[in-house]
Amino acid sequence: MTPKEVMEFARKNGAKMVDLKFLDLPGIWQHFTVPIEEFSEEAFEAGFGFDGSSIRGWQEIHESDMLVVPDPTTAVMDPFFEVPTLSLICNVVDPITREPYSRDPRYVAQKAEAYLKSTGIGDTAYFGPEAEFFIFDDIRYDTAANYSYYFVDSIEGIWNSGREEGPNLGYKPRHKEGYFPVPPSDKFQDLRTEMTLYLQKVGIQVECHHHEVATAGQAEIDMRFAPLVKMGDNLMWFKYVIKNVAYKHGKTVTFMPKPIFGDNGSGMHTHLSIWKGDTNVFAGDRYAGLSEIALYAIGGILKHCRAVCAFTNPTTNSYKRLTPGFEAPVNLCYSSRNRSAAIRIPMYSPNPKARRIEFRTPDPSCNGYLAFAAMLMAALDGIENRIDPGEPMDKDLYSLPPEELKNIPTTPATLEEALAALEEDHEFLMKGGVFTEDLIETWIKYKRENEADQVRLRPHPYEFYLYFDI
Ligand code: GLU
Ligand code: MG
Ligand code: MG
Repeated sequence: MTPKEVMEFARKNGAKMVDLKFLDLPGIWQHFTVPIEEFSEEAFEAGFGFDGSSIRGWQEIHESDMLVVPDPTTAVMDPFFEVPTLSLICNVVDPITREPYSRDPRYVAQKAEAYLKSTGIGDTAYFGPEAEFFIFDDIRYDTAANYSYYFVDSIEGIWNSGREEGPNLGYKPRHKEGYFPVPPSDKFQDLRTEMTLYLQKVGIQVECHHHEVATAGQAEIDMRFAPLVKMGDNLMWFKYVIKNVAYKHGKTVTFMPKPIFGDNGSGMHTHLSIWKGDTNVFAGDRYAGLSEIALYAIGGILKHCRAVCAFTNPTTNSYKRLTPGFEAPVNLCYSSRNRSAAIRIPMYSPNPKARRIEFRTPDPSCNGYLAFAAMLMAALDGIENRIDPGEPMDKDLYSLPPEELKNIPTTPATLEEALAALEEDHEFLMKGGVFTEDLIETWIKYKRENEADQVRLRPHPYEFYLYFDI
């Protein structure tokens, strides 16, 4: 839509308010709202001012004035407000220079798309993330946190006993058997369907929804693939819709990767292909129907994976998911069909248009714009430098003897390790000015000081269980 068309769209839908959305550095949507009378076509040029110093990871207080400039192509009616409200995703710019703000994650994603075009390798990178999540009864998260360390079974009882039906009416999926018996074992069919309908309302195409493997209400809703920036936007809408539908029903949703000890965590496997015009440049006649370019892309992602994890798995909790035995990858290798490898080549369809790679390491605690951009830059580095991905590993890596595993590198064991890897290895991200030195340094400092150190320095509930009577 052009600015003019957006104004027409707002009028037709009776919009009384305009909601302006943008995201902070860790990846949570922020917003403010202006009455429609304060909004006009000029707003798409002039933008709206706000205080950037209060946004996590952003400006210092002495240079805190920032502008948000709405992107007219993102216009939809927000389906959750009673009063008709037009919603726009915004870019962030400096009010003096009018330059895009280098710490705006959406700008990083835009630059990654431009960089891809400049290489001549392709013109569009398509991303298909499968963001898994847990649906819980609305319970205080601190109570939940305390329980999770001691009573794996009770936490499921507490969270998902089903309040209206009273406690324990049975049909609880057995441990790790949530994928995927019909109701009444699956208690969330209607909720996932309602989430799907809302996603469609905001223009997101959904391919499928289902219960996931973990027992306590784990879910997956798959969006159809889209180009990088568009998928960054879609992922923001996705989380917003999922949380708001759950909230309407007195439920709560978390995208935290490992909320329950001893059961599967939530991943965000991300499918990637690069296209030039109508041609999928990842399709070819090499291993698993891939092209040489796709194999080099795999080489790049595997080579830089430990640094990429600082963006695709950016929380301390992320590394509690990346352990053997829960369908999450640990070893940095690739394979067709093998779900224990970091990269899988899905083989559901013989059609070359469907050829893609599935990077299984990411999780939904990431900031999608930064995670997809980092993943693309690693893939492009592999293609530009013809990085050999080595031989595929078509074996179950969880059950290989240690001698066979010892030469296969692994994902980082902690957020701190991932941040250290990013500190060492980030030239590939800075090509074309996509990630700036400032953004990388700010990210590392923010994550280290506000998250990694904070968790590391606090006595852990399980330490009391182990050591209190020592
Ligand atoms: N939940 C698993 C993970 O943490 C993935 C399950 C699946 O294969 O979809 O990656
Ligand atoms: Mg899944
Ligand atoms: Mg998958």
